Amino acid sequence: MSSVLVVEDESAIAELISINLRHAGFDVTLAATSEQAQALVDRVLPDLVLLDWMLPGQSGLQLARRWRTDARTRELPIIMLTARDEEADKISGLDAGADDYLTKPFSTKELLARIRAVLRRKAPEALDTAVEIAGLRLDPATRRVTRRLGDEVREVKVGPTEFRLLHFLMTHPERVHSRSQLLDRVWGDHVFIEERTVDVHVKRLREALAPVQCAALVETVRGAGYRLTQQVPGHVAG
Ligand code: CA
Repeated sequence: MSSVLVVEDESAIAELISINLRHAGFDVTLAATSEQAQALVDRVLPDLVLLDWMLPGQSGLQLARRWRTDARTRELPIIMLTARDEEADKISGLDAGADDYLTKPFSTKELLARIRAVLRRKAPEALDTAVEIAGLRLDPATRRVTRRLGDEVREVKVGPTEFRLLHFLMTHPERVHSRSQLLDRVWGDHVFIEERTVDVHVKRLREALAPVQCAALVETVRGAGYRLTQQVPGHVAG
């Protein structure tokens, strides 16, 4: 389930958005100020933020700018909401690092379409789209992992955490993820879970992938973290 943080000080609008998003299957958290939003994000990174421009105290625009300068939130998907529809505003919103921009009033249909488009681009692990790499296929809708070996399709048994970990790695292949980033994106908690937990689950994931000859897809990058790669020496894809 994708998580969306809605930062909006007008409670009627916040409620309406949250009802519609929950109805569409999103997990919604509300914040009424930039400070509240920052405190929530410090704890758990949402998959996407709907950020109102005009907030009491620090504006949504300033908050977006701040998030873009912090390594942890640099990639956080942000859609700015605003009552102003001037071209100059739109440009400054996008300049501040917003991924998209919606002018109030907007329809639920448009909001959902924009959210899905931004997630597809920036957080595909938050969507139910199946992914396939080197004959290994993961389908979030059916929660199944399978591997093609010649004409045969073999099922891979993985636990719920290994499933989420594999999903994240497969939707962001060839990139190195630090343990802290994986805790943020897979566990949703980088503060209270030890980094060693990541190593434990990577080991279990490799053990689950070994019978279908895919354990080597998950590489350890010394001093940096983990990476899913197709460029494994000796690995025969297909
Ligand atoms: Ca407002």
